[in-house]
Amino acid sequence: MNLDWDVEKLIRPELLKMKAYTPVEPTEVLSQDMGIPVERVTKLDGNENPYGCSPRVLQALAAYPYYHLYPDSEQREIRKALSQHIGLAPEYIVAGSGSDELIDLILRLFLKLGDKVINCPPTFGMYPFSTEVCGGEVIGVERKEDFTLDIPAIKKAVGKRAKVVFIASPNNPSGNIVAEPEIRELLETGLVVVIDEAYSEFSETSVVSWVPKYSNLVVLRTFSKWAGLAGLRAGYGVFPKTVAEYLMKIKQPYNINAAAQVAMLESLKDKDYLRDTIKMIIAERARLFTKLQEIKWLRPYPSQGNFILCRVIKGDAIRIHQELRRQGIFVRYFDTPRLRDCLRFSVGKPEDTDLLIAALNGIC
Ligand code: PMP
Repeated sequence: MNLDWDVEKLIRPELLKMKAYTPVEPTEVLSQDMGIPVERVTKLDGNENPYGCSPRVLQALAAYPYYHLYPDSEQREIRKALSQHIGLAPEYIVAGSGSDELIDLILRLFLKLGDKVINCPPTFGMYPFSTEVCGGEVIGVERKEDFTLDIPAIKKAVGKRAKVVFIASPNNPSGNIVAEPEIRELLETGLVVVIDEAYSEFSETSVVSWVPKYSNLVVLRTFSKWAGLAGLRAGYGVFPKTVAEYLMKIKQPYNINAAAQVAMLESLKDKDYLRDTIKMIIAERARLFTKLQEIKWLRPYPSQGNFILCRVIKGDAIRIHQELRRQGIFVRYFDTPRLRDCLRFSVGKPEDTDLLIAALNGIC
């Protein structure tokens, strides 16, 4: 009997050659890799919230008595709470296991094999990743030198059977927001326009209120950044009602787990606390920016997110990345043509800024 079948032959061919997403490593792994105790790891690579979640979330999670039961597949309580949070009816809202899951679900809903998705790099890597996993093809429309969108080029790409365009605002990793007239222009193309507002709480800009007016506008949000829940995977999207209905139909029934729902609900009850931590991060972003500007061989880009992208104008970004790593400071390096000489620093606590700046000053 032959037990040695070549199962790889059965895998979808387009996935065999697809490039994997490069995720950030967890603190314990970084600590082990570099032989540094966990408490000495300075993690500035994942745009995570240095202040963690609300203390009330920890209490609510410990007190919740129903982990042995499936959560509500209709997400009634959380959709209602989110509805109060954003000021739109629950029918516009779908919660997900992080906004990553919603990116995937949107593509599953709209794409059939070979359909096109417009991506505007440099930007968040999950858009092309999920497009390919869902059998779509990516049309890349590069951002301009200053990381703003090339609207005429996007419009040209629409004609090539594109269905969806993803725009992060603020954009990760460049930190700039997209201008509202540009979003309007994109909406007029008839594409599904996904505005990813993962960092909008740090920019105080949002187009969530536009959703009822446009049948092709989707806005994605997350609790990973402002509410410090990255580890629990808690995101949501605001969709035209019909789209939300289809997403509710095709999603896994229990896609958002009970702990994530408890944590989201409790975060929404503790917004004053979380608003204070957002303010601290915004203030620290300004301080970090000034300090980075003082380093002659770095050029930081102004950011409305909880991170700052820097171009290394003299020296080698990979070497600096490695040297920081050796010292227990983990920052993000992107091995892509436009970002090869860049580093992205997440905004941490003041002491993280001090460590990072001292280390950078010690390098050159
Ligand atoms: N969108 C953007 C632009 C991001 O940078 C990230 C996280 N790095 C996400 C979405 C994913 O967020 P979540 O943790 O909710 O999946």
